[in-house]
Amino acid sequence: AVRVRFAPSPTGFLHLGGLRTALYNYIFAKKHKGSFILRLEDTDQSRLVPGAAENIEDMLEWAGIPPDESPRRGGPVGPYQQSQRLELYAQATETLLKSGAAYPCFCSPQRLELLKKEALRNHQTPRYDNRCRSLSQAQVAQRLASVPRPAIRFRLQEVAPAFRDLVYGWNQHEVANIEGDPVILKSDGFPTYHLACVVDDHHMGISHVLRGSEWLVSTSKHLLLYQALGWQPPHFAHLPLLLNRDGSKLSKRQGDIFLEHFAAAGFLPETLLDIVTNCGSGFAENQMGRTLPELIAQFDLTRITCHSALLDLEKLPEFNRLHLCQLVNSEIKRRQLVEKLQALVKEAFGSQLQDRTVLDPAYVERIILLRQGHICRLQDLVSPVYSYLWTRPAVGRAQLGADSEKVDVIAERVLGLLEKAGSSLTQDVLNAELKKLSEGLEGVKYSNVMKLLRVALSGQLQGPPVAEMMVSLGPKEVRERILKVLS
Ligand code: GLU
Repeated sequence: AVRVRFAPSPTGFLHLGGLRTALYNYIFAKKHKGSFILRLEDTDQSRLVPGAAENIEDMLEWAGIPPDESPRRGGPVGPYQQSQRLELYAQATETLLKSGAAYPCFCSPQRLELLKKEALRNHQTPRYDNRCRSLSQAQVAQRLASVPRPAIRFRLQEVAPAFRDLVYGWNQHEVANIEGDPVILKSDGFPTYHLACVVDDHHMGISHVLRGSEWLVSTSKHLLLYQALGWQPPHFAHLPLLLNRDGSKLSKRQGDIFLEHFAAAGFLPETLLDIVTNCGSGFAENQMGRTLPELIAQFDLTRITCHSALLDLEKLPEFNRLHLCQLVNSEIKRRQLVEKLQALVKEAFGSQLQDRTVLDPAYVERIILLRQGHICRLQDLVSPVYSYLWTRPAVGRAQLGADSEKVDVIAERVLGLLEKAGSSLTQDVLNAELKKLSEGLEGVKYSNVMKLLRVALSGQLQGPPVAEMMVSLGPKEVRERILKVLS
């Protein structure tokens, strides 16, 4: 069975890079009727960020890609937080020590720091010189007396197994000579990433590891660990780098790549899923507006390429506009949009609301139906240009300007027009009728009619087309606003 995992470290809130990794895992799992697991890699306790673990799981739910097994949901192979699995890492370390594949390291932090400094001074990658590898049993026993809990290192073999990555093809990395033997268990009993990752992927029955390409080289170390532990490794598929459109690193953007930011700004989860898959690969073609079920149906792992994926956040509003239209088509989702807009209106206008009727679900729904396709975010409907939808303008005759003696005549005609048209008002009909109306009045210009209506309806001299406002408000409200401005 396919079992995949998203294994973030709770050292920060979920951002678009994490979402991309989680999403590809989710899609792959669902495509193969498998399970999607969330595992928190919280072994570096010094880097934990308060609230990050909760945020990651919350945001996966928000995005509509909830894990099947996770710290919150539990599952058959839990716990799903590495800090609660120390026993398993200790066991594996024991096995490795017994077979000689691992060894205790007694080097002091000062010595390691010195090695590092020296390497940096010579412009070399810091590398542990494997000094404790060759300690005799007697030397080990002697040192254990003064350092009872040494760190444990993994003895890297000269030649790491070659492996076929499902995206990058055949790979083999000479990891032994890059950084020296890695610590797998620290003296405080916490594992480091390599050991914890291998132990968990094994015990959690992970079949495929889909993760960012920054981990490609580490995979060689992991394979050596699998070998030393006598375990069968999973398949690997590394996802290409996710970059900004200009090729810069995503993490260089400040704050604004976090999912929370997009959620608060009114972007739909569907939009984010669409935009991170559109710049990536894994599909026969890129196509705006795909829904999650469509992404699952069309995904093909073999189509993922190693080219960097360029994220074009400038397209977000357009993507969101499309997804908003799609949601409006679904009755359930439309009801949710109505509720969301009601909340936004309450929040934005609160006590200024003209009366509770503007929160009437039927009215709110009508506004959404009328404005979909023109707005990018639901939030747009509470921006100043649309405030006329929710609040009555505080205007009187004084604001109507010079032609005020003609105002009564114009108003009378418009009211007559409203009466006649009833609920069959459309923007086109209205435009034509208003033109006719002004032509039929001596000394009245079309612009006078429009100005009167604009001021009466919105209190502004500029804004959306008059006919659009009339349709949105409906004949009854238009009538009331005209009467009010005359009174
Ligand atoms: N904890 C690692 C990270 O934060 C996970 C890497 C992996 O998926 O193996 O990216």
